Amino acid sequence: YDDRDGKIWMDGTLVEWRDANVHILSHALHYASSVFEGERCYDGKVFKSREHSKRLLKSGELMDMDIPYTVDQIEAAKKQVLDVNGLTNAYVRVLAFRGAGEDMGVAASRNPIRMAVTAWEWGNYYGDAKMKGAKLDIAKWKRPSPETIPVAAKAAGLYMICTMSKHAAEAKGCSDAMFLDYRGYVAEATGANIFFVKDGEVHTPLPDAILNGLTRQSVIGMLKDRQIKVHERHIMPEELEGFEQCWLTGSAAEVTPVGQIGDYHFEVGALTREMSDAYEKLVRS
Ligand code: PMP
Repeated sequence: YDDRDGKIWMDGTLVEWRDANVHILSHALHYASSVFEGERCYDGKVFKSREHSKRLLKSGELMDMDIPYTVDQIEAAKKQVLDVNGLTNAYVRVLAFRGAGEDMGVAASRNPIRMAVTAWEWGNYYGDAKMKGAKLDIAKWKRPSPETIPVAAKAAGLYMICTMSKHAAEAKGCSDAMFLDYRGYVAEATGANIFFVKDGEVHTPLPDAILNGLTRQSVIGMLKDRQIKVHERHIMPEELEGFEQCWLTGSAAEVTPVGQIGDYHFEVGALTREMSDAYEKLVRS
């Protein structure tokens, strides 16, 4: 994947895709000191671009990383990468990380915070599940308490159990895993938020131990515009039995229907379809 044509923005300049390397002693590789964003560009415009850039800076702040760029500079970098690679519909990955430097221990406040922006074409995050409904495993790991790690940060360290859980899910023939949180409440998938439908009303976990996704917020807004009741609340896993529909939201996942979680089954129903279509319209409007 690294040996291809294209340009990547690194620390203020464009470098060849195949030369976008870091030193093996980069702090981030050893201690997960990195934060990132996943965004999508639709017809030449990155959806909620500034919100993503602001969240990146916020994640840095939460993780004690002083990212040396402003929102405007990050916006300019994204535009430059999309333009130079001739991309109008693409996934955009912005990464800020602690590089190699004076320190190689856990503490490395003197090491530079570096940034890179990459963009590439990426189709449906869950492949054909987008049409027929994804099958999810229930992860054996739990989303951590906000007293364990800043859960509002989109930080690499929070993704280790995501990778482990998604690998385990895929080994069972599932597309993804759904996490419970440290209290046992329904939380989120490994890279997406989760919604349920029952009796024409929508239920979704409170964002108190999960990432309050930008897509989640857009979808809640669209539901409220339609006068559909949205209950943001703690959801027990046993409640899955009574839910009729389920979908995931995320910048990469967009709105993806869920057909099954563990032994619980859901229909890909009208509201799920409506939200998926409405989101597609919204991002291109
Ligand atoms: N939860 C997790 C763990 C994620 O990685 C993501 C993707 N960023 C989301 C939720 C959804 O966030 P967003 O809608 O902002 O992409």
